[in-house]
Amino acid sequence: MNRHKNLDILREDRIWDILVIGGGATGLGIAVDAATRGYTVALVEKDDFAKGTSSRSTKLVHGGVRYLAQGNIKLVREALKERGILLKNAPHLTRRQSFIVPVYSWWDKFFYGIGLGMYDLLAGKLQIGKIRMLGRKSVLRQMPYMREKGLKGGVEYFDGQFDDARLAINLAQTSDEYGACLVNYIEVEELTKENKKVTGALVYDHLSGQNFSIRARSVINATGVFADAVIGMDNVEAQPMVTPSQGIHLVIDQKFFPGQSALMIPKTDDDRVLFAVPWHDKVVVGTTDTPVDEVRDEPLPLDEEINFIISHFNRYTSSSITRADVLSVFAGLRPLVKATGSTTTALISRDHTIVVSTSGLITIIGGKWTTYRKMAMDAVQNAVFVGKLDKRPCVTEDLRIHGWIAEVNENDHLHIYGSDAAAIRAMMEKEPELKKKLHPGYQFCAGEVVWAVRKEMAVTVEDVLARRVRLLFLDAGAAVEIAPAVASIMAREMGMDQDWVDAQLKSFRDLAAFYLMKGA
Ligand SMILES: Cc1cc2nc3c(=O)[nH]c(=O)nc-3n(C[C@H](O)[C@H](O)[C@H](O)COP(=O)(O)OP(=O)(O)OC[C@H]3O[C@@H](n4cnc5c(N)ncnc54)[C@H](O)[C@@H]3O)c2cc1C
Repeated sequence: MNRHKNLDILREDRIWDILVIGGGATGLGIAVDAATRGYTVALVEKDDFAKGTSSRSTKLVHGGVRYLAQGNIKLVREALKERGILLKNAPHLTRRQSFIVPVYSWWDKFFYGIGLGMYDLLAGKLQIGKIRMLGRKSVLRQMPYMREKGLKGGVEYFDGQFDDARLAINLAQTSDEYGACLVNYIEVEELTKENKKVTGALVYDHLSGQNFSIRARSVINATGVFADAVIGMDNVEAQPMVTPSQGIHLVIDQKFFPGQSALMIPKTDDDRVLFAVPWHDKVVVGTTDTPVDEVRDEPLPLDEEINFIISHFNRYTSSSITRADVLSVFAGLRPLVKATGSTTTALISRDHTIVVSTSGLITIIGGKWTTYRKMAMDAVQNAVFVGKLDKRPCVTEDLRIHGWIAEVNENDHLHIYGSDAAAIRAMMEKEPELKKKLHPGYQFCAGEVVWAVRKEMAVTVEDVLARRVRLLFLDAGAAVEIAPAVASIMAREMGMDQDWVDAQLKSFRDLAAFYLMKGA
């Protein structure tokens, strides 16, 4: 996947079948679906792929136990089916994860046992493990740091876990291999129209500073929480569709929550679900559900959200973490579809919505990472109709995502690259200096930086440290420490000068301030 090559193609005078605006889970899924059906598809992303919500999830491939409690059986069944498909098609980035709901009353054990039993049943053939009722001792064996006082036992169930931004990159590569043309750092500034119908977009290349236009038979707005801005380009009088809701996560060392099982608290003070999930040798704890007025590229975790997560984690475990123990904090915005009459964003449906405007602009919002494939299929059906394209069947249910590999060895640091790991190793054998580790506390090596630049369209230090490897999310302090080494490897690889390195380092340090815990 090469930015220069794709940019040249994007600038050609041609008409694409589908233009996708937005390179998050939704847009990338659409590019994969459309390209594998044989349509010509272009995708533009104003920042980097998965810069928005799609790198900031709780990392669960799940049906959503909470939606079951809300009675949304259709959504849960659909998501459980998608969970099974994703685990099959991207085994290098996903895994089966044990979750334990600790119970402090016999009634809760009965209640959650029945509920999670139903969750299992809804997965049908795609079930990934049967629920188990656990006694107190078993819970403490699997989660040694659970709060013991009053603990009656627990219910264990299984869901999926994944690396969201890596999946985004692999989806981009998959669609690229099927002929889609994707370019990051290209922003749609205006929609173009003929006879009141959308015919494409005027875009701005943030790297070259140039504008150009792209023509397409159908245009899909897959910009998540930014969707209203694009809808506004189509119709200045359109009503807003998105209610942004912020969720934050804290990342802590595994010493505060050892074991392989994840903790799931089904009901917090504000009726949320709280998770503590092992992820890349750390633990991700979250999340919150805070309505916000402003849509920002870097959402700001609020003090009350941080305090809420720390206090709840400490309430249910024997650990006593403080701000100083938090390695990284990250916030994301849920693109929830505006609901009338809902008093809390926790109650707004996570289902997706597709709206086609009178000019033919297709907007898709809502949904979840887990259901990205189904969302993409629905969006492409609409594009086929709007763009009067030949009907062709969706083939993504059995489509292997870039990196697919039969055997995954999770003890191998490079396993998240799947089938690419062999090529990365071969590259490092040819250029042994690339074997150099960049931080004493992490396996991460110079070869991964070079690979990200050569093969994964990384163009900034942030692209590498936030979304090609996940160090900014795992340990923001360590990411800041190695940023100079990453910048100099990238500069060598990309032919950039010291001014570029200095500017990159400044902008990365400014960004990392959002992820470093303040007041620690
Ligand atoms: C806190 C939190 C936890 C979550 N946890 C889970 C989970 O565990 N499992 C799960 O399945 N789902 C989860 N989700 C939901 C999931 O992350 C989102 O549904 C999904 O990532 C949304 O993807 P998207 O592509 O619609 O939006 P985004 O990822 O935000 O992508 C939209 C993209 O459009 C780009 N863009 C905007 N305007 C323009 C423009 N004018 N031109 C070009 N590009 C533009 C943006 O830069 C952005 O990259 C969670 C969400 C949140 C907030």
